[in-house]
Amino acid sequence: MASALLRAAYAYDRLRAYPPEVAGRIATAIGHAVAARGEEPVLLELGVGTGRIALPLIARGYRYLALDCDPAMLEVFQKKAAGVMRKVRLLLADAREIPLPGESVHGVIAVHLWHLLPDWPRALAEALRVLKPSGVLLEGWERVEAEPECRLQERWRELVAEEGVLVERGLQGRRVAEVEEALRRLGLRPRTREVVVWREERTPREALEALAYRLYSFTKGVPEEAHARAMERLWAWAEAELGDLDRPFLVEKRFFLRSTRLS
Ligand code: SAM
Repeated sequence: MASALLRAAYAYDRLRAYPPEVAGRIATAIGHAVAARGEEPVLLELGVGTGRIALPLIARGYRYLALDCDPAMLEVFQKKAAGVMRKVRLLLADAREIPLPGESVHGVIAVHLWHLLPDWPRALAEALRVLKPSGVLLEGWERVEAEPECRLQERWRELVAEEGVLVERGLQGRRVAEVEEALRRLGLRPRTREVVVWREERTPREALEALAYRLYSFTKGVPEEAHARAMERLWAWAEAELGDLDRPFLVEKRFFLRSTRLS
């Protein structure tokens, strides 16, 4: 495994983890939304990453199909899940071509995935294909409010723009709305609810690391040299503007879950 990919996967795990009580609330909301009518529910997560959504559900005994196209993310996931893997199957695969028969799972989970896929309708069609007729599609996303982090991201955008690269903003919110429209066009009735609001401490150094490791989708399309030069200037700017990079600030986060039952 290329160590750069693994480093990024470990950084994702460290910097984007949920506090345990938040992870528990999300797992409870997902568990309530999945009704298997007497059968043992089988859940499939598309883009499982390092398992921050999956692991609390696996610990509660759900049969889980963990799909991701990045072997480094799956490797970290597998290490974290060691000991509770008995009912887990790893699928190194593309969400746009799910290697499962039709109508085979009770729930499909997709958290922070659609905006990474320019051709998301293919993945959505696949998700609906593998769901049982009474199955449920569960999409999740976060909204984050943190002034210093926004400033750093804005400055990063400006520096990248000076390198001649324009970075699109607000893609996740637009994609969430596009997927909802697509579901409604199919005659389905998606329902969204805010599951949990919480506050976390974060340091400017962690926010800079998250940018450096490209843990946010908006950083993905920027060429490596442009990103590296922008990051070098951003670290210097942050030290001058913010002073102590290890002084924490508060971040408010909200997790939303949209459930769409097929029948
Ligand atoms: N759902 C996890 C979570 O919320 O922590 C991970 C979210 S992470 C932002 C997105 C994940 O989707 C990454 O692990 C990435 O490798 C995976 N991914 C991106 N495109 C994919 C695709 N076409 N097929 C399968 N997985 C994909």
